[in-house]
Amino acid sequence: MRQITYISHSVAWTDTLGHIYINKNLKTYNKGLYNRVLRHEKQHTIGAYNKQDLKLDFKNNISQWELFKFCLIYPLGFAQYSPLVKVKDTLFFSWVSLLKLIITICVITAVWLIFK
Ligand SMILES: [Zn+2]
Repeated sequence: MRQITYISHSVAWTDTLGHIYINKNLKTYNKGLYNRVLRHEKQHTIGAYNKQDLKLDFKNNISQWELFKFCLIYPLGFAQYSPLVKVKDTLFFSWVSLLKLIITICVITAVWLIFK
């Protein structure tokens, strides 16, 4: 059984011990999305982020758009996209988060260019 901590910022992530952190507002915002995010986090491997985790993050049934809409209502959710990650009391720089941030900006820009 994975330990779950409810937090007031970001969306969700799993640390190297398999401990899941999930935004406490997600459940009331959209139960279906919450369940999918939680299922996704449980699929992450325990230990260092690896190829399997990367594959899971790029191919899953949660769209960035859904998470983005959640963040518009709960702006602290945007902390998820910050390349600075805080674990316990230590801030560190995450290349994976930076990569996701760049991809998200590209997708939003592309959508904006298509629909403007
Ligand atoms: Zn993930």
